Amino acid sequence: MHRHDQAIARLADHALDYALERVRMDPVPLDAPRPYDELIRAAGQTITPSGIGGDRALKLFTEVLAPACISVDHPRFLAFVPGAPTEASVLFDMVVSASSIYAGSWLEAAGAVFAENQALRWLADLAGFPESAGGAFVSGGTAGNLSALIAARHRWRSRHAGRFDKVRGVVLASKGAHSSIAQATHAMDVDLVHVPTDHRGRLDGAAVRSVFDSLAPADRERVFAVAATGGTTNVGVVDDLAGIADVCADEGIWFHVDGAYGLAALCAPSVRDRFVGIERADSFIVDPHKWLFGPFDCCALVYRNIHDGRRAHTQNAEYLEVLRGGEGEEGPWHEMNPADVAHHLSRRARGLPLWFSLATHGTDAYTEAMETTLTIARLAAEEIGRRRHLELLLEPDLTVLVFRRIGWGPDDYRRWSDDQLYSGESFVVPSSWNGETVLRFCIVNPRTTFDDIVAILDSLD
Ligand SMILES: *Cc1c(COP(=O)(O)O)cnc(C)c1O
Repeated sequence: MHRHDQAIARLADHALDYALERVRMDPVPLDAPRPYDELIRAAGQTITPSGIGGDRALKLFTEVLAPACISVDHPRFLAFVPGAPTEASVLFDMVVSASSIYAGSWLEAAGAVFAENQALRWLADLAGFPESAGGAFVSGGTAGNLSALIAARHRWRSRHAGRFDKVRGVVLASKGAHSSIAQATHAMDVDLVHVPTDHRGRLDGAAVRSVFDSLAPADRERVFAVAATGGTTNVGVVDDLAGIADVCADEGIWFHVDGAYGLAALCAPSVRDRFVGIERADSFIVDPHKWLFGPFDCCALVYRNIHDGRRAHTQNAEYLEVLRGGEGEEGPWHEMNPADVAHHLSRRARGLPLWFSLATHGTDAYTEAMETTLTIARLAAEEIGRRRHLELLLEPDLTVLVFRRIGWGPDDYRRWSDDQLYSGESFVVPSSWNGETVLRFCIVNPRTTFDDIVAILDSLD
């Protein structure tokens, strides 16, 4: 395992060649999963006492394992939430790996943290957050939501001087909130109270007010956060952030906005006004690995006041004492430790690929790419409206389209979807809306063209 032996030098060439080839591929192969039996036959046992050698392991990856993984950046991958990392961000992800940076603390990674924080500041500015804002990049929206809600509960308990230290808290959220909100309340052992939405699945301030008022006084005191969604995953609807902000301000409740998918569109002028009220949130998250053209895995977690994050999450240990001091109580905290503001400690500098791509291309290019995807989504919605066999179920707020194929049931959708995937045409999976099986497109890839959409719709005739 010596760094300079010849086999490693050759391997470096091969691995980098493959990586560069994959980055430059256009189009990328869609690929598809394979059953375990086939994989064990094709790949066999790969971990052995003496090793199979890098060349063989790399060949196994490129010829057997990678083709058994769907490429999220394929322009006809419209299932779940795809990704479309820029070349700059992918290349820099490799640089980050090669740089052996521990990015938990300013002491060990001042340069990396400085750059990550400029990327976070861009997001904070788009949201209209004050100077005190800051946060960290965590692995994904699930980790970001959990960290924000932990900070919310911490602030609630500390404001009440011990009175609620043994009291179970309550989070309010809509049924359209992402499953990770329910998972966070489960992990934190707090109660989740669902607030009804309007017919489009949008949560508004009046509904939050009415559910809050309907609680018994002792339960009202337990409410420590409202989790709104800036672009629901299933239908892409943006909640009434301003109305919800009013209720939170009146009641002194933490206002969190889960924008893992949708808040990327803060940089898109054509839809920016849908997010009015975000500037009053206490925290928000957005995943650059979704609609901000970065690689997995990356979620930006931003607090209005970074010290709320620090107070809730700082780990104390003898060996970490050297990191303490200089935090201050309020205001900007420049020489900060990302480890101190989320539920994590060791971390890779996973915000750097986004930083490098932003620095390389400039923020205007992001706005332009975002508007491209929004335009394709609008054209796709119109096209669905024109087709005799199809019916659009909601006018899109962003780039998620939900529609039905008239006359089809769950089995028809499933069969069509499998057919598309295994023939390499597209990856679109059914979802459900109001109990009905439906089709769903999520468009985040600027390389998805109107022709791609038409080809998929044609196959539904
Ligand atoms: C995707 C998503 C999440 C979860 O994010 P991960 O990065 O997959 O953990 C949370 N909330 C919303 C609204 C999402 O779309």
